[in-house]
Amino acid sequence: MKPEDFPKEIKQYIIPEQRGKIVYRCLGCGLEFGIEKLLYTCPNCGQVLLIYDLQFDGLKKISGKLWRKIFDYRRMLTIPALKGIYLYHEFIGPVIPLESVVYLGEGHTPVIEANSFLQKKAGVRFFFKNDGQNPSASFKDRGMASALSYINFLIKNKHISDVLAICASTGDTSASAALYASFLQPHVKSAVLLPHKKVTPQQLSQPLGSGAAVFEIPGVFDDCMKVVEAMSEKYNVALLNSKNAWRILGQESYSYEIAQNFEYNVKDKVIVLPIGNAGNITAVINGFLKFYETGIIESLPKIIGVQSEHANPVYRYYLEPDAKKRKFIPVTVKPSVAQAAMIGNPVSMPRVIHLVDMYNRISGRKNVFFIEVSEQEIIDWELTANRNGHIACTHGGESLAGLVKAKKQKIVKNTDIAVVDSTAHALKFSGFQEMYFENSFPPEFEITSDPDLINTPVLVSPKDLKKVPAPGKPLKKNDFKRFVKRVSEEIATTLNLKTR
Ligand SMILES: *Cc1c(COP(=O)(O)O)cnc(C)c1O
Ligand SMILES: [Zn+2]
Repeated sequence: MKPEDFPKEIKQYIIPEQRGKIVYRCLGCGLEFGIEKLLYTCPNCGQVLLIYDLQFDGLKKISGKLWRKIFDYRRMLTIPALKGIYLYHEFIGPVIPLESVVYLGEGHTPVIEANSFLQKKAGVRFFFKNDGQNPSASFKDRGMASALSYINFLIKNKHISDVLAICASTGDTSASAALYASFLQPHVKSAVLLPHKKVTPQQLSQPLGSGAAVFEIPGVFDDCMKVVEAMSEKYNVALLNSKNAWRILGQESYSYEIAQNFEYNVKDKVIVLPIGNAGNITAVINGFLKFYETGIIESLPKIIGVQSEHANPVYRYYLEPDAKKRKFIPVTVKPSVAQAAMIGNPVSMPRVIHLVDMYNRISGRKNVFFIEVSEQEIIDWELTANRNGHIACTHGGESLAGLVKAKKQKIVKNTDIAVVDSTAHALKFSGFQEMYFENSFPPEFEITSDPDLINTPVLVSPKDLKKVPAPGKPLKKNDFKRFVKRVSEEIATTLNLKTR
């Protein structure tokens, strides 16, 4: 639909203008800093930052009802810059002009209701939101679209040039960073640091394919993160980890999309997501808060963060009910099939502490919960989901396992409807599925395969067949006939098929 064809009250808002006054605000000392420079931590006290729009209250001049209409009509536009996360431009990055927006197809991922069998098994009505259907096959693209649009904006305004974008990664950040950076080459080049042998072959292939410089580092993600942090302090590089507050801003789109998907009724909704570096839960909480403050949604949904027993620092922190007695202690991680969340010292922990407190306070009750699940539960639920029409990654399995546990603990009510985040595509983690099907997990994973969930290919090669086709060597007429007949018979016998 063309802008001129929209109803009168929408027309003036349908194409967002460059507006707002954006600053970094330190969560430690409260100081604010301009965005002309790339900042990751407070120059004054070293704490992490969040991005605030000093003119945010101006958005409240438009009613929640009108905002809902604006976003719904805006979906009918065919302008690429408004097709992804910047559909919510006023909330995501209002100072970024549309010409600077990098859109590679991210956002607006499908929300798929589970079939009745799976809902019954889980004991809850729920939907998967398939963030694996983003361009690099994980939710990280939401944040990267925001971070790279901002960098593009700085380049266009000649604030920076020849950017080297750098990140540490459990696999998906680097895939996403390399993809978005490559779109802006030659102005932006990228380098990624990965823990050696701690990312899947599929994830490793992604930044290589996008042309990034890929470095494998001994240790785990937390070690890579320290190297990248040290480098970003000493050298002229653009850090693309979620320490970069622009990432958080872009990932808030996940909450806006859920609101819009359910016609802005999130009253009985439960949002379930895995926690690694805790950037995403920060973004999701912040997103719902912003929509609530502007009256776009009229209540705040319940939020459940899930961690594996093998990487559970956030869960452990909140085990202490008395907020004053809580003390954050990083953990040493153990191998996890939810490998992208295998993080013992989450960078966004101060943001989580700040926002969870605020979210509960504004909700007027405890409204953010933390659940711990076993590795066995994670993969069993992933495989079960995928046998019922889904494409969940192991982290999607983790979210679902967390939902089931939360239901058992009565955190989730019978009337609640859950939206479970499958943060990446199943294919990225197919190696873990393979280990499950071969029952070959090393003991540290603490996973044994349930025979009912195992599936393996069957080689069909009837013993009485002397000749079978091979590449470049097709069979002759009668041999081929016999081959087709015998192979069909063998498959039919295995499947117990009746002749017609
Ligand atoms: C990064 C990632 C996570 C963890 O998200 P955080 O923002 O680091 O908490 C979970 N799942 C997948 C697939 C990821 O790539
Ligand atoms: Zn500070």
